Amino acid sequence: MKCSEFLNELTNYLDGMLDESTKVELENHLSWCHNCYVVCDTTKKTIEIYRDSQLYELPDDLRTRLRSAIMKKCQQHKKHGPQSV
Ligand SMILES: [Zn+2]
Repeated sequence: MKCSEFLNELTNYLDGMLDESTKVELENHLSWCHNCYVVCDTTKKTIEIYRDSQLYELPDDLRTRLRSAIMKKCQQHKKHGPQSV
């Protein structure tokens, strides 16, 4: 499984929507690919925060920062140079 395939299935995985064999493939990928492991972990935490936010209403600013944090994880090869925010 390639990283792009992993990322495609990630939200399904976190939602528990995958069949057993796909799930095993994803978990295999996680065991050797640290980058995807970090993305998975971050996404999982963010989803939890998003779910909580339905109760607590996060400010838009925080949502935006969470989203950009994930995007950064997904694009680690772009990490050189200061980003203009
Ligand atoms: Zn990967």
